[in-house]
Amino acid sequence: MSSYPDLKLYIGGEWRKTADNLSVINPATEAEIGRLPIARISDLDDALSAADEGFRVWRRTAPRKRADIMLRAAAILRDRQEEIARSITAEHGKPLPQARLEVIRGCEFLEWDAGEAMRTYGRVIPSAPGVRYVVHHEPVGIVLGLSPWNFPMSQPCRKIAGALATGCSIILKAAEETPAGAMHIVQAFHDAGLPAGVLNLVFGEPAEISDHLIRQDPVRLVAFTGSTAIGRHLTTLASENMTRVLMELGGHAPVIVCEDTDVEKAATSSAIRKYRNAGQVCTSPTRFFVHESIFEPFLDTFVKRAKATSVGDGMDAGVEMGPLANERRVPALAKLVEDATAKGAQLHCGGGRVGNRGYFFEPTVLAKVPDAALVMQEEPFGPLAVINPVASLEEAIAKANAVPYGLAAYGFTNRADYVDRLTDEVEAGNISFNTLEASLPETPFGGVKSSGYGREGGTEGLDNYMNVKNVSHSME
Ligand code: NAD
Repeated sequence: MSSYPDLKLYIGGEWRKTADNLSVINPATEAEIGRLPIARISDLDDALSAADEGFRVWRRTAPRKRADIMLRAAAILRDRQEEIARSITAEHGKPLPQARLEVIRGCEFLEWDAGEAMRTYGRVIPSAPGVRYVVHHEPVGIVLGLSPWNFPMSQPCRKIAGALATGCSIILKAAEETPAGAMHIVQAFHDAGLPAGVLNLVFGEPAEISDHLIRQDPVRLVAFTGSTAIGRHLTTLASENMTRVLMELGGHAPVIVCEDTDVEKAATSSAIRKYRNAGQVCTSPTRFFVHESIFEPFLDTFVKRAKATSVGDGMDAGVEMGPLANERRVPALAKLVEDATAKGAQLHCGGGRVGNRGYFFEPTVLAKVPDAALVMQEEPFGPLAVINPVASLEEAIAKANAVPYGLAAYGFTNRADYVDRLTDEVEAGNISFNTLEASLPETPFGGVKSSGYGREGGTEGLDNYMNVKNVSHSME
């Protein structure tokens, strides 16, 4: 594949290969599309020294200069949109139009944080005459960024944007399944003139890399997006050194559909959103609690749209849903369907693998799923929706909150009292009404409960990357 990059590590401003490699697979064809060099411990130590040097330079670089380089890198990425999108589709499987949008979203994260770089204001606290109290914000130090495979471009951009805007340096370990997005970002920063060592990219055995780097004193923030189980493990490791963490973890988004809703519109938009990125999105709408008076028409419309979803190779025109990004997700989803149906759930469409080449899974709808089914607690992270009837708003809220997660939630209603109640009572970091857009670069995104802590984006997004220093000054 000509547009797929030659995969390398990037340490101290230079590209590097190593003797050991991993295979990168196109999940639509199962063909190998690249060989990914694996970092040895010596490479990680080199990355650490480089990041240390990079931090010395970058923390002293004026915010406007930082912003200029970030904006230049984003402009370069926008110019390379088509090439990047094609490599993302090749390694991840998502339809090309979705990959193109992802490239733009990644640029928007960089652009938003570039602007915020110039607004990391401190404050002056009133005090006695001759005494000043001034609050400063300082970069936290070296960031270890760990980004997942579901958004190969926009997820690494989030971590890089936060670190670079605040004057931190970063060692990014992007997902081994989908390394090209991060490679393109790094190349753009290289071309934009980022000083050596400020941004470093490694790949390898995730546990080995995180275990080695999190224990190093100069690493002061671990910014991770991924599953709650791994997030918990990394938080424990980080606690040994009192290293700060930013954890964007799993979700199991509830959608509360009230009786006053336009059923056709709500069901159609929900089904389209559900199967975007093959459901491999932490904010993906998954547990639908629909008022019993509109349950049947909602289910019918949703199932019709699910069945109409065209599944195929993301490179092909008209495809709406590609394969799952990796092989292990196929049995994981099949297990959830099998368990739910064994416990009495109705399977309205899908439920299994499509064909025997590529990791395709059918758009799936389960209805009337009992609370005891695994899928009511376990995030499917795939093209699977659960649609259950509820008798009241109270019941819907109780069910929405009956999981350890609290990332995104959605409501369909035009009643102000319902909006107020859901806003107040649903446990989530983000709640959206009559839209399935959970966040933008300019809004704070993150979870409560086991969905993690810290926020990315918005005016809050840079807080994680900065220390607060209070300066007292007596002129007496
Ligand atoms: P997983 O838990 O094995 O891995 C999740 C991510 O963490 C991957 O990117 C992986 O490379 C990384 N990882 C794993 N062990 C690590 C370690 N010790 N140190 C550092 N990084 C490590 O799960 P998976 O099979 O890759 O993905 C399935 C689950 O992951 C889903 O159920 C979902 O909850 C979660 N996930 C969430 C997001 C998100 O956007 N929040 C993204 C991808 C995956």
